[in-house]
Formats: sequence, structure tokens, C-alpha cells
Amino acid sequence: MGLQDIQQRVTQAEKDAGRAVGSVKLIAVSKIQPDARVQAVLEQGHRCFGENRVQEAAGKWPGFRDTFEDIDLHLIGPLQTNKARQAFELFQSIHALDRPKLAKTFARLAQETGHCPQLFIQVNTGEEPQKAGVLPADSDAFINACRAMDLPVVGVMSIPPADEEAALHFALLAKIAARNGLKGLSMGMSGDFEKAIALGATHIRVGSAIFGDRVVA
Ligand SMILES: *Cc1c(COP(=O)(O)O)cnc(C)c1O
Repeated sequence: MGLQDIQQRVTQAEKDAGRAVGSVKLIAVSKIQPDARVQAVLEQGHRCFGENRVQEAAGKWPGFRDTFEDIDLHLIGPLQTNKARQAFELFQSIHALDRPKLAKTFARLAQETGHCPQLFIQVNTGEEPQKAGVLPADSDAFINACRAMDLPVVGVMSIPPADEEAALHFALLAKIAARNGLKGLSMGMSGDFEKAIALGATHIRVGSAIFGDRVVA
């Protein structure tokens, strides 16, 4: 456990999969973690982080950005349309583009601000009613619609069902990316990131294995 241990495991998984060392981006998921733990990881030189709530990120990251340069922040949780503007200001990447209304809002904000975060389209590979994401059958059409709006779609993202074999979902997501010519594959968390790397993940989202359990005070 801890950053160094996870970095070593990522490197080993890259080698085992015959992939270039450094080809997988490790997103340290800092949601709910105490600031001291996040600061410790920043002091070890890590700069890529993930948050799942705009509000929480807005309270935490401007302060860290005063102290640490080049922080690369990823939004990995669902985004309400009315928080899109704030998300544009805070995040370099958004992994939760999952509906036409949000795509339209992004397109408008991109026009207005002259910039847009890198976008991952979330796919609900397990077709779970409570989970965000477009259904696999709708994913090609949605990706095309986003591209038609000139949005910078770089990849797809998924959170497999907790009680199913993650590898099946990673393989499905990789297939959707490949047939749409997308390079980015955001998949794999603390319990299964090595499997995700074996199946082509370019971005893994690892929280508790780096920071320890999320303790809700
Ligand atoms: C919290 C979260 C993670 C990290 O989960 P861990 O099991 O702590 O690694 C990854 N992805 C998403 C979307 C999350 O919300």
C-alpha cells in the first residue's frame, strides 16, 4: 500500500502485458481523504489526482495549486449540468460525459471559454439502472454525436458492477474504444487495476490502495 508500492505494481503490470513502461496514467483518487494524506502524496512528487465531486474539489484543490505546480485533476464522478462551468475551471479531464444535455453544455462552454477539458464518455457496461453512463448499445451513436459537436473526446470510462468479473467489462470497454478509434481507456481501481492494465487501460483510478481506507468522520 502507498504510492510507491502502487507505482511499482503499475510498472510490473505494464511489463507483464508487454506494454511500454509509463504508458498507464495513475490517477490518485483523493475523494474524502484528509488533506494531510493528499499533501503527503503531493510531496512525493505525484501530480495526477481524481475527485468525484465538484464541490469537494473546489474546496480542496485551489489551495494545493497555490503550493504545487502542474496538478492534473480528473473528475471521475457524475456531473450535474449546472456545475459544468465550475468543472471546466477546475479539471483538466472529465471522465463522466454520459448524456446529450451535458455534451451540449460542454460545447457551449468550449465556444465561450475557448478551451475544453479532455473528455471520456462513461459507459454503463453492466447496464445497472442506478449507475451513470450510456448503455453499450448506445455508445457509438453518442460518441459520434459528441464528435459532431467538436468536443475533445479522448476515451471511454467504466465502473464495472461490484459483483461481476471486472475483466469482462474491461474487455467490452476496450472493444467499444477500438471500434470508435479512441485511445483512452479509463478503467481499473484499487482491487483490479492490474487486470485493467492487462486489457489495455491507459488511465487507472486508484484511491484506497494509495491513501488508505476512506474514513468518513
Ligand atoms: C472512488 C472511485 C475510485 C477509486 O476507488 P478505490 O477502490 O478506492 O481505488 C475509482 N473510480 C471511481 C469512479 C470512484 O468513484
